[in-house]
Amino acid sequence: MPQKHRVLILGGGFGGLNAAQKLKRAPVEITLIDRRNFHLFQPLLYQVATGSLSPGEISAPLRSVLSKQKNAQVLLGEAVDIDPDAKEVTLRDGASVAYDSLIVATRRRCYRAGACRRARGNRLRNAQK
Ligand SMILES: Cc1cc2nc3c(=O)[nH]c(=O)nc-3n(C[C@H](O)[C@H](O)[C@H](O)COP(=O)(O)OP(=O)(O)OC[C@H]3O[C@@H](n4cnc5c(N)ncnc54)[C@H](O)[C@@H]3O)c2cc1C
Repeated sequence: MPQKHRVLILGGGFGGLNAAQKLKRAPVEITLIDRRNFHLFQPLLYQVATGSLSPGEISAPLRSVLSKQKNAQVLLGEAVDIDPDAKEVTLRDGASVAYDSLIVATRRRCYRAGACRRARGNRLRNAQK
């Protein structure tokens, strides 16, 4: 039996989770990888900081969010490298995960505009290879 198209999603925040859920009925095999095992609803962080909500009220285990989605699995791991030629992502623990399509939804905080533009340029050049 031919292998299903493998979609690898890096990041289980708003972007990554939304992508996984949108692909619920697609004939693909989804692997979502996040360095945390939970999704954090960041817009309510202020309420946790001010004590009106507890941390558990604004976070949910990624595995339970996607538990009913048969074509998705969640892995805990931090992506440290992407090899677009080999179509493989390397995780911090040394494991590598192969993909057919890759969705990068890890967000990038830019503290200095110049540094961020350079980083984005390098990532894009690597991805376009
Ligand atoms: C306090 C606060 C309040 C906000 N309020 C609002 C609001 O009211 N309205 C609004 O529209 N937006 C708001 N935002 C912004 C909103 O939260 C972000 O725009 C949104 O979370 C971005 O989604 P994302 O999926 O790109 O990234 P994120 O939600 O940050 O998800 C990225 C995920 O990638 C994972 N990750 C990162 N690097 C790696 C790696 N190398 N390997 C594996 N996993 C990795 C992270 O663990 C994380 O789970 C707020 C943000 C904050 C901090």
